[in-house]
Amino acid sequence: IKKIGVLTSGGDAPGMNAAIRATVRAGFYYNLEMYGIYRGYEGMINDEIKKLESKNIAHVLERGGTFLKSARSAEFRTQEGRQKAYNNLKKHGIDALVVIGGDGSLTGAHLFFQEFGIPAIGLPGTIDNDLSGTDSTIGFDTACNTAIQAIDKIRDTATSHDRLFFVEVMGRDAGFIAINAGIGSAAAATLIPEKKMPIERLVERLKARTKALKQSNIVIVAEGGKSGGAAEIASKIKKQLPYYDIKVTILGHLQRGGSPTSFDRVLASKLGVAAVEGLMQGKYDVMAGVINNKIVFTPITKAIVDDKEVDEDDFRIAKILST
Ligand code: ATP
Repeated sequence: IKKIGVLTSGGDAPGMNAAIRATVRAGFYYNLEMYGIYRGYEGMINDEIKKLESKNIAHVLERGGTFLKSARSAEFRTQEGRQKAYNNLKKHGIDALVVIGGDGSLTGAHLFFQEFGIPAIGLPGTIDNDLSGTDSTIGFDTACNTAIQAIDKIRDTATSHDRLFFVEVMGRDAGFIAINAGIGSAAAATLIPEKKMPIERLVERLKARTKALKQSNIVIVAEGGKSGGAAEIASKIKKQLPYYDIKVTILGHLQRGGSPTSFDRVLASKLGVAAVEGLMQGKYDVMAGVINNKIVFTPITKAIVDDKEVDEDDFRIAKILST
């Protein structure tokens, strides 16, 4: 392997810049040529490919977002699109890829390897933490911290006015951000897609908390929850808790931004180096992750299987602490 292309794809996540920077630095360390592919697979198809130099990755480690930009590419889902992308890689002599993104982006890398034999290593870049083969994805810790800081602020106003707040956090159909935010911000209840909580039970819990004279009540709702989003649940519950002034806050995209935490910077840095070393050792079609503080390479086909779930203990702990 002589020339590695690196790209970020799908939803952006804090720490993607740190991952790009580590990948490129590691490439330079091993005397490889490194190429930035801008706007994910879309840029691969449109030949937005530039050779990277040291100056391109200066002062990006601490920045949120991705300086290579990210995109969703419908064209890459077609055989013709992928052929165009392959032709561009060949034109630049790029013989391996590091793809930083979520399950969709890694699926694309896997398909591309199958079709054209371009060695690829995926790095888990998503705030949702919904990839197997790693304890944490790049961006997840930062998103949890952002959510908790925002909820702390909401709590100030909730307490001052004895309000009941429903706060919706991101995570798609996974409840990882929600359960962490719930435990980390002392929520009255946490609703996650993995567990169904009947509305009656939620009402009971909130009534019990009122009796116990709890000062503020914040319910965390995962965006992909089975009973609906925060607004839907708030409207369902309104009639049963008439004495509460109920408010809804959807944290939304602010959870995607911001400077990555120390944890995400270190994770992204380790994984960037692992990606380059993995490619040099002939580890293809795999995702690099960290499990129990050790680098682990998992076949992409396994990493993208939707079987990572919120730990039963975390759910139990959240319940104990809010009852
Ligand atoms: P996030 O978890 O933040 O949504 P993601 O990587 O899962 O990130 P997707 O939009 O699912 O985001 O995928 C990113 C891109 O990867 C798609 O726009 C598409 O170009 C490519 N991709 C996804 N699935 C496939 C597929 N089955 N075949 C080819 N390319 C794919």
